[in-house]
Amino acid sequence: MQNRTYTADAEPGDAVTVAGWVHEVRDLGGIAFLILRDKSGKIQVKFEKDEMDEELVETGLGVHRESVISVTGEVKEEPRAPTDVEVVPESIDVLAEADTELPLDPSGKVDAELSTRLDNRTLDLRKEEVKAVFEIRAEILRSVRNAFRELGCTEINTPKIVATGTEGGTELFPITYFGEEAFMNQSPQLFKQLMIGSGLERVFEVGPIFRAEEHNTPRHLNEATSIDFESAFFDHTEAMDACEYVVKAAYEGVAENCQQRLEALGIADDFEVPEGEFPRLTYEEAIERINATGELDEQLVWGDDLPTEGERALGEDVGEHYFITDWPSEIKPFYIKDHDDDEQLSTGFDMMHPRMELVSGGQREHRYEHLVEGFEQQGLDPESFDYYTKMFKYGMPPHAGWGLGGERLVMTMLGLDNIREAVLFPRDRQRLSP
Ligand code: ATP
Ligand code: MG
Ligand code: MG
Ligand code: MG
Repeated sequence: MQNRTYTADAEPGDAVTVAGWVHEVRDLGGIAFLILRDKSGKIQVKFEKDEMDEELVETGLGVHRESVISVTGEVKEEPRAPTDVEVVPESIDVLAEADTELPLDPSGKVDAELSTRLDNRTLDLRKEEVKAVFEIRAEILRSVRNAFRELGCTEINTPKIVATGTEGGTELFPITYFGEEAFMNQSPQLFKQLMIGSGLERVFEVGPIFRAEEHNTPRHLNEATSIDFESAFFDHTEAMDACEYVVKAAYEGVAENCQQRLEALGIADDFEVPEGEFPRLTYEEAIERINATGELDEQLVWGDDLPTEGERALGEDVGEHYFITDWPSEIKPFYIKDHDDDEQLSTGFDMMHPRMELVSGGQREHRYEHLVEGFEQQGLDPESFDYYTKMFKYGMPPHAGWGLGGERLVMTMLGLDNIREAVLFPRDRQRLSP
């Protein structure tokens, strides 16, 4: 549309064409108002019935809520209008009429169930606070990419259709690939590692991961966005430094560029960029602290994975982002390297938000023989991972990295209750469409 003016840019004295959705029509008798909403905000359009062309008034006031219109007219100062200006219309075009019955009320006066919202995302994202989530999500990804660039990374894209999985066979979605069995990839792990021995050395990827999660939870999706990092010549502590840097950069970007959106979500006053170093607890300290909270019916012992209630109790205790380091090797994946002086102790780490796990990472096993042994111990056939393991025979440097759940970052940053609120079109056990 030529010469369209965003409502937020309309200045008194301007002759403008504004275009957007009919947010509300208020008919007070002799005078009536139409509130027009666009990406930038809202503006009042005033109708003085006695002084205006009858057809113009009829069009303006007869149009259903949420229809798309364009209004050409003059912008006037009006202290009683919500934005101190209003448009006095000269002509109105109805570009797309909306039904009178809407499945969802975009003005937000009537609350809708999450499932209704997800079925009608187009209407749902007309709400300021819902739109804000996705504008902030975009800012998070922009900031994260920028931080990776500052760390000297190259952005890569790895295949999502693969012949084998990484984390054992249980959470894979099988598909048919020209008559052969294939899978949707559950992690870029092996492929990003392969790039460590390439000339790129330090890489990141923002892309989808697919996991056939067995349980329906507020923090698991079947299609999620993974933010992955991997660097040659890094150990696990350097990988943790990079992780902290990237997560803080995401918060900083949002604090700097999304104040209005945070206000729309009602969290602008409480929004804090994490400061100082994230505490680093060992796994042993973590289970001791969880046991000391008395929140669990059964005490945790060395080798247990942290149950959800345990994570929550520890999160409340620590009260900020933190790392859990030095996990028992047996509960971390085989591709994670053990400490040189203690084979039972892995260099794997998790980075936690008080509410949940955000990141898993570690230093990787780069020694060919150890790696192949790891596959065997995991019950995986090293031969089907030949494409991966054999590159470890041709000069694979020591390296470390991590994977960060994009939706979990959005969710915890904004205090969303359900991870589905951080995805436009979530995939879960009940939801394959839209
Ligand atoms: P969890 O213990 O919460 O199931 P995980 O340890 O299985 O997570 P990882 O394999 O370590 O997950 O993946 C790295 C990160 O990816 C996780 O820390 C999390 O932020 C994110 N993630 C993993 N699975 C999912 C999922 N199903 N939905 C959304 N995010 C996920
Ligand atoms: Mg999991
Ligand atoms: Mg986990
Ligand atoms: Mg994990």
